[in-house]
Amino acid sequence: MRDGNVGAETLVGRGLISDEIKNRIRDRVDIADVVGQHVSLRRAGQNLVGLCPFHQEKSPSFSVSSSKQMFYCFGCKAGGDVFAFLSKVTGATFPEVLRELGDKVGIAVEESPAERGQRGHAHRIEEVNQAALTWFQSNLRDSQLGATAREYLIRRGIQQSTVEMFRLGVSSSDWEGLCKFLARKGFSASDSVTAGLITPRPNGNGYYDKFHGRLMFTITDLRKRVVGFGGRVLGDGMPKYLNSPDTPLFKKGQTLFAFEQAREAIVRTKTVIIVEGYFDAIALHQAGLAHTVATLGTALTAEHVQALRRFTER
Ligand SMILES: [Zn+2]
Repeated sequence: MRDGNVGAETLVGRGLISDEIKNRIRDRVDIADVVGQHVSLRRAGQNLVGLCPFHQEKSPSFSVSSSKQMFYCFGCKAGGDVFAFLSKVTGATFPEVLRELGDKVGIAVEESPAERGQRGHAHRIEEVNQAALTWFQSNLRDSQLGATAREYLIRRGIQQSTVEMFRLGVSSSDWEGLCKFLARKGFSASDSVTAGLITPRPNGNGYYDKFHGRLMFTITDLRKRVVGFGGRVLGDGMPKYLNSPDTPLFKKGQTLFAFEQAREAIVRTKTVIIVEGYFDAIALHQAGLAHTVATLGTALTAEHVQALRRFTER
């Protein structure tokens, strides 16, 4: 079995992340628990086995050793420790994986002040987005606020299970509903502005909602973080589609809609369908083509291709 990954060794070698921290975190987690959140495992002798998440197969050749704290696939030869697994399955970098696992087990991973500032900022934006999502979803369920959007979804043939899977919602048609909701939840106006959810009024007198009377699509990354939103106008407003602006958490040219929902099917089929629109993507998922993703109104970029290639290598 191969230990860790090349990126990890390089960083450790540069002294940015000590071997000691890495080992302490590894000692606190059980690779079987972590892998078990992504792969259905069953016991086979001393090991656990399951269908490999990194290549297509019908009988399990993917195995996890609790005693060695390693995974290995006899089919595609993927293998490594818990950090290598998470990095490969989520697309996160080694330092990101280390930090997230460290947070979970209460071990702080040292970072530069610039990194800390950037990460703290991204984390706050994620929290604002998460709060906004619950608000959009509760609007859609509301008998009055959600009526137009629900009728529209029915007309487009979108089923309730799809609405839930893609966490669709609706923004209210007054101009301050989300502003007030986020303020009540204790979020600062400046974080809500950075998240692209509210905008200062031109006269300097307060704020208004950026998304107004729109069906809301939730954009998540492979770590299931809510990184941004796309809104389709309900009625005649312009523009027809509006996306969150780029933020410390969200880069349009690197993000694909429905990637989180499609990842497993992309790995399984080693194929990906790329469409342009939110509706095309969710309609294809609903029709059983779960390996579909959408660009966010941008052309396909080199970064998109790189992100997809990791999961489709034959
Ligand atoms: Zn494999």
